[in-house]
Amino acid sequence: MIAEIIAVGSEMLTPYRQDTNSLLLTDGLNDLGVQVAFKTIVGDNLGHLTSAAAIAIARADVVIFSGGLGPTEDDLTREAVAAALNIELQPDNAILTSLYKRFAARKMVMPPNNASQADVLDGATILENKNGSAPGQYLDTTVIGPDGGAVRKIVVLLPGPPKELKPLFDEAVKPLLAASLPPRYLAKRLLRMALIPESHVDARTAPIYTTYADVETTILAGSAEIQLHFLCAKATLAEAQERVDELAEKIEAEMEDAVFSSHGESLEEVVLLHLGLRDLTLATAESCTGGLVAQRLTAIAGSSRYFLGGAVVYSDALKTNFAGVPAELVAEKGPVSAEVARALAEGIRARTGASLGISVTGIAGPGPGAPGPDADKPIGLVYIALAGAGHTEVKELNLMGDRERIRFWASQHALEVIRRHIL
Ligand code: ATP
Ligand code: MG
Repeated sequence: MIAEIIAVGSEMLTPYRQDTNSLLLTDGLNDLGVQVAFKTIVGDNLGHLTSAAAIAIARADVVIFSGGLGPTEDDLTREAVAAALNIELQPDNAILTSLYKRFAARKMVMPPNNASQADVLDGATILENKNGSAPGQYLDTTVIGPDGGAVRKIVVLLPGPPKELKPLFDEAVKPLLAASLPPRYLAKRLLRMALIPESHVDARTAPIYTTYADVETTILAGSAEIQLHFLCAKATLAEAQERVDELAEKIEAEMEDAVFSSHGESLEEVVLLHLGLRDLTLATAESCTGGLVAQRLTAIAGSSRYFLGGAVVYSDALKTNFAGVPAELVAEKGPVSAEVARALAEGIRARTGASLGISVTGIAGPGPGAPGPDADKPIGLVYIALAGAGHTEVKELNLMGDRERIRFWASQHALEVIRRHIL
């Protein structure tokens, strides 16, 4: 079973509007085990729309239209689909009555154009739209296939506004589709890895996941992380789950501790989880990340049990005042140095009484380091230090990219240093 989604609306062919409806439709279709093979965006033009409809109906089993069901001249979806299927549109009296009532309730006379919203594809089930005037339509029909035999097609028309489309799809279309498909259960799994190039992940994992033809594997490169999504559909949930779990375990064994998340948790969630398991507390002293590490940790509910807090020690003076870094050390080595990173981590740990102190200091650019010892240090040079009881580790990084990227990657490295230390 494959589906095509057609987003109708000239505005989505401009640089100003995007088709987002197809994302939620795709999600819902995947839940039912229906794969979306094509997505089309068509402007409000009867000829273009009819040809897109005809192509979609020929190549997909399920075709879902979004938009173009309004009452205006450029709302052409009903007409185009009727033309593509070579069937009639029939005015539906119940819809007409409810349209008249909607207008009467607002003490308005219904403009004649609105009657077009009551036109129904011959044989279609009407999907009541509680959030707008244009009802949806669901047509389960047969067309003549290329070899002359009858082929089943499901054609669905939904209104464009997401607030109308989503409830109609969830409450009306999904149950109808589910009832006409063989039962299929979907299992998903998400593994996440930080700070590894996508090509490395693919080179090491492809020999494994390609042997699981029944599991759909997608590798996504995000901000300073790689995600591996696994999706499997089977007649029972247990069968589907077993397949994704088996594959996920093999990948985890191959990638070892590079996998920070085996069920989709974020890096900050995992760090907090590990802190909690060992009953450890953490404090931060951040310079170039300006509190980003603390921000990411505190975004997680419940973080206060293990994250005590931290300081944004941007100036030299605050490095001394808030984290006890000797002023002479900053002057001699420069604020972006392994020595200052170490002193920051140890200082914030001592001042807060946390089990672990983490520091980040670096040159995020675009300008060079401050005059003095840092003046000739390269943009992207970042030091991270983690201080624990009787031991401090310091890491030097040379990050690439713009200021935003360097800051985010530095925060990602800091969280990874904490995670790996606890492991
Ligand atoms: P209406 O009765 O409101 O005219 P309609 O079914 O004719 O509904 P459209 O006119 O095509 O729908 O779209 C109405 C609004 O819905 C658009 O202005 C846009 O904001 C939103 N919309 C339409 N299609 C999409 C889409 N594919 N993704 C996201 N938003 C959409
Ligand atoms: Mg419209």
